Amino acid sequence: MSKTPAWAAQSPTSELAPFAIERREPGPNDVVIDIDWCGVCHSDIHQVRDEWGGSIFPMVPGHEIVGRVVEVGEGVRAHRAGDRVGVGCFVDSCRACAPCKAGEEQYCDRGMSATYNGFERAGLDLDRSRPTYGGYSTRIVVDAAYVLRVPESIPAERAAPLLCAGITTWSPLRRFGVQRGSRVAVAGLGGLGHMGVKLARAMGAEVTVLSHSPSKREDALRLGAHDFIATRDADAFRTNAGRFDVLLDTVSARHDYNDYLGLLALDGTMVLVGLPEPVPLGAGALIMRRRRLAGSLIGGIRETQEMLDFCAAHDVAADVETIPIGSINQAYERMLRGDVRYRFVIDIASLRAAGAARA
Ligand code: NAP
Ligand code: ZN
Ligand code: ZN
Repeated sequence: MSKTPAWAAQSPTSELAPFAIERREPGPNDVVIDIDWCGVCHSDIHQVRDEWGGSIFPMVPGHEIVGRVVEVGEGVRAHRAGDRVGVGCFVDSCRACAPCKAGEEQYCDRGMSATYNGFERAGLDLDRSRPTYGGYSTRIVVDAAYVLRVPESIPAERAAPLLCAGITTWSPLRRFGVQRGSRVAVAGLGGLGHMGVKLARAMGAEVTVLSHSPSKREDALRLGAHDFIATRDADAFRTNAGRFDVLLDTVSARHDYNDYLGLLALDGTMVLVGLPEPVPLGAGALIMRRRRLAGSLIGGIRETQEMLDFCAAHDVAADVETIPIGSINQAYERMLRGDVRYRFVIDIASLRAAGAARA
């Protein structure tokens, strides 16, 4: 076991603060990674505050991890010391069920091992005595099959958000057939939303942002959107009815799905990736124009690698504001106020320096 400096929340009401964790001794298939950058996802806030229930404390959040390999087990061929790598939202799965075999480990029948707020595995099953800890820490040990190659051409801090925000938007855009000329709406211009805009645009779609923040219009267009709809405008839902083939909903707060469904064209699909509190839904909005409502959870390892390689080839990366670990609690407050353009990324060197100062 190796002692590793981290920041943790001790309860749903406490702020994050320094906390030392133990990382396991690397096994033959493990990769030891020194973390350089970790993105801050809205899911970190939902889980730290136990908004989804069942949170495990102490909690070290962080599932948008980019770093360098320092050591690999003897069985590891795909990665070697010095490589730049990434870790996303899960670090293991059963590998035996149909979703795992299909490369959709996030839907593992026995539950994926979430990168934090989850458990490591004993064979096929989760080992509830061994909680996982995420990327607000200096080092992580991960099975090589769950480690991504991060192309060197993408600045590392701008690559970190691809590991969750990037794949979570990439996967449904691909699954629901977005291609050149598709009419795509992205609701919510935050960490996920801004990646949805960039990726849909790079796929050749005609992209519109739906936002409750009129001040984001210029940013939306700069990020690649062709059009912007302010959802506070009382007429917006009526005048744009029936306009989109795919509506990717990344909004983190409660909003009326029925209004948004009305924006879909015949056979259009609205995909939920944002996870707010439950919202009532009427059948009428679906029946008219044979619309579909779907959901999507992050993405598998294989498609995450495809997304990273696509981003390198198409010059796509996140717009980030880097912060030292000491600013994380303020960063959460700013995210809740919508004051982030468009992802906070923690400079883990700041945590390493603080750990060295205390030692
Ligand atoms: P974020 O950066 O905070 O962005 C959320 C956006 O939602 C905001 O930028 C804002 O966009 C909009 N919004 C916020 N409050 C609103 C309100 N009161 N009314 C209307 N719109 C509001 O969050 P994120 O990291 O992108 O995450 C978004 C959601 O996706 C979260 O619920 C997160 O847990 C979830 N998530 C899901 C998955 C998955 O696999 N399905 C993966 C990661 C995250 P505008 O200002 O443009 O309106
Ligand atoms: Zn996330
Ligand atoms: Zn499985």
